[in-house]
Amino acid sequence: MNAPSIPFLDLASPHRELENELTAVFQEALRTAGFIGGPMVENFEKEFATFCHTARAVAVSSGTDALRFALIAAGVKPGDVVVTVPNTFIATTEAISQAGAFPEFVDIDERTYNMDPEKLRTYLETQCTVSDSAQLVSRRSGRRVTAVIPVHLYGQMADMDPILELAERYQLIVIEDACQAHGAEYFSRKHERWFKAGSMGRAAAFSFYPGKNLGACGEAGAITTNHAEIADAAKMLRDHGQAKKYHHDIEGYNGRLDAIQTGILSVKLKHLTRWNAGRRERADEYKRLFAASEGVIQAPIEPSWSRAVYHLYVVRAAKRDELMAYLKTAGIGTGIHYPIPLHLQRAYRSLGYAEGDFPVTEKLATEIVSLPMFPQLTSQQQARVAEELLNFVSGRATGHEELVGAESSR
Ligand SMILES: *Cc1c(COP(=O)(O)O)cnc(C)c1O
Repeated sequence: MNAPSIPFLDLASPHRELENELTAVFQEALRTAGFIGGPMVENFEKEFATFCHTARAVAVSSGTDALRFALIAAGVKPGDVVVTVPNTFIATTEAISQAGAFPEFVDIDERTYNMDPEKLRTYLETQCTVSDSAQLVSRRSGRRVTAVIPVHLYGQMADMDPILELAERYQLIVIEDACQAHGAEYFSRKHERWFKAGSMGRAAAFSFYPGKNLGACGEAGAITTNHAEIADAAKMLRDHGQAKKYHHDIEGYNGRLDAIQTGILSVKLKHLTRWNAGRRERADEYKRLFAASEGVIQAPIEPSWSRAVYHLYVVRAAKRDELMAYLKTAGIGTGIHYPIPLHLQRAYRSLGYAEGDFPVTEKLATEIVSLPMFPQLTSQQQARVAEELLNFVSGRATGHEELVGAESSR
């Protein structure tokens, strides 16, 4: 029982690996005192746009700001409704509120855990009306519905073809929340080719929070878009509404990204494709190992149209809480993403949703557990995670009589 512990996430190793290159960024910034704006920022923006196959990228201070600026720059107005899913991190809906709009939810797909296009269709067809001025209006709030945010959760893209088709029919702005999906890909049946996350909507938001697939050494984010006017508007929003110093065309924010962070991101971006490939290999290995559980541990499903980058490796398990407690005593780090669906959070009580409104999300929240996943995870570590998981499932868990009892009395 004294096997070495396995962390949920290892952020130290990649920084040790790149220490010299990363310190050189600090030295360069100190030497030139170029802390805000300048060539490091511009270079990273070009590199990240190239990586995402978009015309433009705009570096901002966080993923939350990226979402907020993308919504405002793309034309979401105060009082509008923006449709998204309840199975996401609260930043998605915070950004909607911060843009002055209101979130409304549609449930997720049972297989992919992302927005279910059929539920979006039902929402648009049965819970919205078209006003005299040809404006789509939500029946529950009486507000104009103008945008939708599909979230590419856990590193897998939402099923974008039908979402984009519905958005076109109802003239909705699509903003991708790609904060967990740097480098994920989607095969469009309509266009018969693969697309990178962040290149399919009107604009997209990325987070470079340290634990993301591409992480800064602090807070950071970016907007990607193929529309120059949206990129230019986002650049003004991040910099007090000015395109020229002290000429404020609008009121904006202080949402710029430090040059040092963009320099760091440029260093790390060179390794992202390799790191993502490592995550995909780890995911394949887990899937192989969990096949022995005969469905008690449900591995993530990757449809043929998806190439996921496994920001998180999320399995479903009955007795999730006991399983997590068992893994904790075995020294294995886990997490829940996310334990309380957004429509049931106290912060959103005023939206008027109730338990039972989004049954797929609600059920999932009681069954999901995120297992250790990072590019440097070794196959020995994975074998131990699987061994402990399978021990628990088969009731062979040692030193946990009460848990074993509960398991076998099922
Ligand atoms: C991390 C994250 C965000 C917010 O990004 P920050 O950089 O932390 O502001 C938004 N949406 C999702 C799905 C995320 O995972």
